[in-house]
Amino acid sequence: ELRTPLTQIHGYSQMLIDLTEEELKDPSYMKTLIEGVVKGSERMKGLVDLMFDVTEADVGEMRLFKGQVYLEDVIDQAAQPYLQALDERRIAFGKSGIKELPIVEADGTRLVQAFENLIGNALKYTPDGGTIKVEGQTKHLDDLGPVIEIVVADTGIGIDPEHHQKIFEKFFRVDDTLHHSTGKTKFKGAGPGLGLTLVKGIADAHGGRVWVESLGHDEVNCPGSKFHFVIPVQQPAEATRQRLKQSQIETRHWRRSDLIDEMME
Ligand code: ADP
Repeated sequence: ELRTPLTQIHGYSQMLIDLTEEELKDPSYMKTLIEGVVKGSERMKGLVDLMFDVTEADVGEMRLFKGQVYLEDVIDQAAQPYLQALDERRIAFGKSGIKELPIVEADGTRLVQAFENLIGNALKYTPDGGTIKVEGQTKHLDDLGPVIEIVVADTGIGIDPEHHQKIFEKFFRVDDTLHHSTGKTKFKGAGPGLGLTLVKGIADAHGGRVWVESLGHDEVNCPGSKFHFVIPVQQPAEATRQRLKQSQIETRHWRRSDLIDEMME
């Protein structure tokens, strides 16, 4: 996975070095090459970030920066990067019960990350014209007490029961031949197989859990998948229905990139 963007960066850089006198006079050609380098490095940074996060979760050391989180903002932010692709692929996206969920004490940025992965997967494994629904409710679980549950349900290709646990393991993907080589939003676009590991890490760090419900894998009849994400309700005593300022969700970004910068030095 790291080799692909590295090859891209190397290839475009080499082309920049080899520019002829004639090509040097063509700003649009130069721009294309430089954009290739930038895209490759962004993809690589995304992967390094993800590996870093997964490692943190893996050793049980995911640090949370908690604040009061309004879950509708979380879902809206998580869906934001996919709006265009949802539109292009005619996939209906709906929310229900999210607005009614109580404000929770949680790491908003991490929750956005978790739902970005779940919604992104729903998009990747649902054929054009399908539906993705995000449904919220509060309930009581014997071991966790009061929880909020958010279910991301799709009408996609589904997952065989034998893989329901394994998909949360690092680098596990159901079947390599199933995936196309590229595309974060394309049908069956390939990923590194780390997304759900991170989602699980985030649920665990909040004292919650995540699991999948699906009748099986069937690309013709598309039984769909439902990912359940549950975290205990830790409502601040003074919780009111104030809308949160975006800044509370954004707090972690600079810290993570700072760490990456340190690593790169
Ligand atoms: P990837 O980067 O491959 O998407 P993930 O950890 O997010 O990695 O998911 C692991 C595997 O689980 C995927 O490769 C895919 O086979 C399967 N999977 C995840 N979400 C879904 C879904 N909504 N529908 C069908 N299969 C899914």
